[in-house]
Amino acid sequence: MTQYEPVIGLEIHAELMTNSKMFCSCKVVDSVTAPPNTAVCPVCLGMPGMLPVINRKAVEYALRVALALNCQIQAHNIFARKNYFYPDLPKAYQISQYELPLGVNGWLDVELEDGTSKRIGIRRVHMEEDTGKLTHLEGGGSLVDYNRSGVPLLEIVSEPDIRSGEEARAYAMKIRQILRYLGVNAGDLEKGVFRVEPNISIRPMGSTEFGTRTELKNLNSFKSLADGTAFELARQAEVLDGGGQVVQETRGWHDTKRITFSQRVKEEAEDYRYFPEPDLPPLHISDAWVAQVRASLPELPDAKVARYQTDYGLSEYDARVLTEEQAVANWFEAVPPTAPPKTIANWIINDLFRLMNEHKQAIDDIQVTPVMLGELLELVQKQTINNSTAVDVLNEMFVSGQMAKTIVEAKGLAQISDESALAGLIEQVLDENPDSVAQYLAGKDKLRGWFVGQVMKASRGKANPGLVNKVLVQALEKRR
Ligand SMILES: [Zn+2]
Repeated sequence: MTQYEPVIGLEIHAELMTNSKMFCSCKVVDSVTAPPNTAVCPVCLGMPGMLPVINRKAVEYALRVALALNCQIQAHNIFARKNYFYPDLPKAYQISQYELPLGVNGWLDVELEDGTSKRIGIRRVHMEEDTGKLTHLEGGGSLVDYNRSGVPLLEIVSEPDIRSGEEARAYAMKIRQILRYLGVNAGDLEKGVFRVEPNISIRPMGSTEFGTRTELKNLNSFKSLADGTAFELARQAEVLDGGGQVVQETRGWHDTKRITFSQRVKEEAEDYRYFPEPDLPPLHISDAWVAQVRASLPELPDAKVARYQTDYGLSEYDARVLTEEQAVANWFEAVPPTAPPKTIANWIINDLFRLMNEHKQAIDDIQVTPVMLGELLELVQKQTINNSTAVDVLNEMFVSGQMAKTIVEAKGLAQISDESALAGLIEQVLDENPDSVAQYLAGKDKLRGWFVGQVMKASRGKANPGLVNKVLVQALEKRR
């Protein structure tokens, strides 16, 4: 059997979260919940004689993405007509960019599962408009909803630098993360506002020529992207090993059968008869505008991760977890420094995430605020409560929204840090366990931990463990 090298490029389509559509003033509405064909006008319905006007906000959003993906920005932009016939396309052409896209020659560093990082080239970032949406009825016939027709759409095309389904997933997830940081796309695959289509081919290891590629569609999750790509790579290898040839085509991913199937033979670019859009002037993007948009970009995930490591001394792993979502990163940064950053990070990653998971709440929905966590950790730092009590208090805060101090006072949870109070408890435990005391005094040192446990239990978890240890040793020695 021949060894093959996978060659994968990704096309990502992302709707831009502008208020209005790309070339008309219709509102951008939720394509799942809005009543069909209620956000439409003669322009986005493709009525003859209607003229499109470019949405400046959409261009700015596209510019943000192109800059964040390290692209060169082309000052001279041309819109083109991509001609094809399909009922979801009322004009019978889509306004897109072809020869002169907004951004070219970008790149993105992607972290892989083995802990390494890989740079994926970005060939182009261009602007276009979305199509309408077809619903095929079971008994035959189809319904069309043009609410989505003309919604600003960004296409991000990678170089064929991707070598596995897992790399494809890591790359797509990172793009989605950046778009969310930039506030231009919600990243919802199931609603179709973020769509990923890999171009997949294989070639004999060592060869520099490209094999025939297939394009994969209907991927509605990152898992489907990874699995569908892996399936398609294996299928192509089987075809070639059997002496056959890969057919250039579009294939669909069947989410329940977990296989790909032929949808249609792939069009070549020339089939679309691209030509410059005569109804739109060339779009000039000034250096000043580029500089202004560049200056307005938020701190992006990689920069945040680097800063968390240098400024807060966090591990790369912790920094990645905290910055995966911008809202979580903002939350973390808003916690008052009542405890070391590493401690704050641990409390968020372990305890807060556990609670959010259990209650199915996002960080924006929870009652606990960064200030409230800071106050809780201050009580731990001051040894008013110990760590395990603090976990219980946080659980309570999460449900009731009360401040840590209020809960500690109401429930009498303050730690017993008073030596004389502890000494009483310890004497009581020692009196109740004369055999263990004897064994300890005979040299069985390991029993000390057991005694600490008994005292903690007797205090219902409120004893200060460090102090217990100190007073316990003294009490045991007195009995020698
Ligand atoms: Zn419209």
